[in-house]
Amino acid sequence: MDHPLNGHSRNAEAHRAMEDDSPVMGVLEKIQAEVTGMSDGEVADYIPELAHVDPDTFGIAAVSPHGRVYAVGESERLFTMQSISKPFVYALAVEERGLDDVHEHVGAEPSGEPFNAISLDERGRPENPMINAGAIVTTSLVGAGEQGARFEHIRSVLSAFAGRELMVDEQVHRSESETGHRNRALGYLSLSGGVLVGPVEEAVQDYFRQCSLSVTVMDLAVMAVTLAVGGVNPLTGERVVSQRTARHALSIMSSCGMYDRAGEWGLRVGIPAKSGVSGGILASAPGAFGVGVFSPPLDDAGNSVRGVAALERLSDDYDLHMLQTPSEPPSPVHSVSRSGGTLDVRLCGEIDFLAAEQVVSRLAEVIDDSRVRTVTVELEKVSGFSDAARTLFAAELDELAEAGVDTAVSDPRGVRHG
Ligand code: GLU
Repeated sequence: MDHPLNGHSRNAEAHRAMEDDSPVMGVLEKIQAEVTGMSDGEVADYIPELAHVDPDTFGIAAVSPHGRVYAVGESERLFTMQSISKPFVYALAVEERGLDDVHEHVGAEPSGEPFNAISLDERGRPENPMINAGAIVTTSLVGAGEQGARFEHIRSVLSAFAGRELMVDEQVHRSESETGHRNRALGYLSLSGGVLVGPVEEAVQDYFRQCSLSVTVMDLAVMAVTLAVGGVNPLTGERVVSQRTARHALSIMSSCGMYDRAGEWGLRVGIPAKSGVSGGILASAPGAFGVGVFSPPLDDAGNSVRGVAALERLSDDYDLHMLQTPSEPPSPVHSVSRSGGTLDVRLCGEIDFLAAEQVVSRLAEVIDDSRVRTVTVELEKVSGFSDAARTLFAAELDELAEAGVDTAVSDPRGVRHG
């Protein structure tokens, strides 16, 4: 299948102007101050090269859906993505093969087991794409398991997520390749289950390379927000994956992203996230911020101790839990005015099913109001219509017409027809 990036200028450099004077910087500084003193945790050393890192390093970055960038601490320090690469390669596999095909090869259930668990379900599939076994299978699915070009394709798409050319840390890659025999064993296990495509060593090598891509917390925050807003990188304007694929990746992150702490994470943080053993955490608050944190010491589930603490505070103090409900649904009705027999309704924002339900119930009141014979609906301030909203709205216009009310829709930007 043609990837959406084909034919476009790939990997436009993201322009990352920092919002230095913003009070949002104060929020991140406060969080950094609160977690800096925490000294628990151990730096991962099972990949020997990872052990050479300063355990006190800390950086955090957040990017808004409009592409505003906030960062404190060592926000330009490079580290390797490790498992944080997994949701992005999963997104790429889903984009190429479709959701059902990918899940013929890998499950979608939280395993409740560590990242390197020897796990196959009753159908011979690793339990999910966020544990190593499932991630190696997912990598094998990209590019139909073809030799050679696959990693370059993965690197290119992950770079588009970041809005910057990402490079492999060759030393970490070598270190992982020399010692990663358990991952090879997981690859052979999946081959025996009939779900890994192509030669195991090639899939494992490409997996090691994707884990060895170097990033900063800024890169993670840009990658995270690109998923959070539905697949378009807000800094470069590139569509990297479809809105639906982005949603699938967020779903898998929310159920399986934090190793065997996914349930606890959902309870206390509630932001789809993925951690990696180098000490990074990427968190994508749906429709809101993308966040990247880096602090190498890990807890016994393999998650960054200070990273978890920082995201717990961020979620709790700044309303980022995805199940936080607004006290009232946002109203799509910007204003309503009547002059003579004409009612003028101006709508605003994104019209989804919930918003459309509010609009049609307001319009339906006109049918019982004999003073109003004409309704004009203005969509100038509307940013988009979902398919469900479109159907509901069209049905209500038919109802009004049947009741003898004239309707006119002003849609200068053509949002109603996509
Ligand atoms: N490359 C690491 C491994 O496969 C990734 C593990 C992780 O970050 O969880 O062991």
